[in-house]
Amino acid sequence: MKKESVFIETYGCQMNEYDSDRIINALNATPTNVAENADIIIINTCAIREKADHKAVSAVGRYNKLKKNKPELIVGMSGCVAQLYGKKLLKDMPYLDFVLGPRGIPQIPKIIKDIRSENNHRPIETSMDVQDVFDITPYHKKDKVAGFVSIQQGCNKKCAYCIVPTTRGSEINRPINEIISESKYLVELGAKEITYIGQTVNSWKHNRLRFPSLLDNLQEIDGLERIRFTTSFPKDITSKMISSMKKNSKVCKQLHLPVQSGSNKILREMSRTYSIEWYKQRIEMLRDEIPDIALSTDIIIGFGSESEKDFQETMDLINLIEFDTVYSFKYSVRPGTPGEKMKYHVPDNKASKRLSILQERQKEITFKKNCDNLGKIIEVLIEGYSKQNRNDLYGRTTYNKVVNVKNINDSNIGKLINVKITEATQNSLIGEQV
Ligand code: SF4
Repeated sequence: MKKESVFIETYGCQMNEYDSDRIINALNATPTNVAENADIIIINTCAIREKADHKAVSAVGRYNKLKKNKPELIVGMSGCVAQLYGKKLLKDMPYLDFVLGPRGIPQIPKIIKDIRSENNHRPIETSMDVQDVFDITPYHKKDKVAGFVSIQQGCNKKCAYCIVPTTRGSEINRPINEIISESKYLVELGAKEITYIGQTVNSWKHNRLRFPSLLDNLQEIDGLERIRFTTSFPKDITSKMISSMKKNSKVCKQLHLPVQSGSNKILREMSRTYSIEWYKQRIEMLRDEIPDIALSTDIIIGFGSESEKDFQETMDLINLIEFDTVYSFKYSVRPGTPGEKMKYHVPDNKASKRLSILQERQKEITFKKNCDNLGKIIEVLIEGYSKQNRNDLYGRTTYNKVVNVKNINDSNIGKLINVKITEATQNSLIGEQV
């Protein structure tokens, strides 16, 4: 029987990308990049900010037009927006065929079968009771140098601004044997680097094992050259974790550690459970053990009662730590979160102004840090052809910096090579193989 072809438009984080690949495997379908060729179209949505959630809803409307010429086409919505609004989506969009929350992915073959066999059946699967969230491994492309493996679903933290615990449920940690076997499978397909993903990845635990032991075990996988993980939660950084990062040579010298604000008052309102002193101390511990570690963070501007003084404290932190990269956003109220009930709100124009001050300063820091690499010889794992020039290849350093390598043979894809850095731009480095 001919496999159905599926087109998935994915919004949001790596977790959503991973879920889209799980949907492909759950359906045993052929992925296509052309919506017009698909038998099934799925919009895999993100609800973390209001903008992303609107974008996803308008995408459904766009694909509905294709149904006019192809009535058997199924258009569904999955992901966090689907989980959040459930039935309302089916009511508001009569052309939407199904709604599927992140935990419902194993149910998708049944959903499609039911739609095909019953007229006007529009299933909705948003149950949170599902525990077998790791039953479906994702569709992994062959010869992809860098891949992802999920080690955790959901989140037990209760940050006041965040929709994730509502849309993805509480934390479920994946057993180590499953993590290792999916990793080995990826390596067999050609992966040299794996990023292990979870909402608070370093809080991973299973039976008596904790995250540092997981890293020790991953280090032993033959053929795997590099290990990354994201996203870490500051309160779960332990000295054992730092020692494990240091001693395991495959663990990249890079950490994404969202701080969200430099003000203790705002961190309390956010229910982040750590103080800024705690955060700074963890950074010191990391830099003491791994001096050249690259650090990135997330910052939310304009949350709660953020005053000029609170904002200045965030700027002080940015200037003190000099992160390699900062992902910064204006706070966006999410339905059903504690933040929605807060009486304080920073006016939008004030928040926009603060955001642009922060982003301008961070641009300078990032550029300066990129320039610090000029003349250095750095190891780069080559991932593929450069987007700017097909004669060049691109890869990443252990510090997660993108490097475009000039005039180099494509037999180097998948290899670790030494590159002399000759130019630095705002977002990447340029160099030559040595
Ligand atoms: S740690 Fe906080 S911000 Fe991160 S997913 Fe959990 S609740 Fe959301």
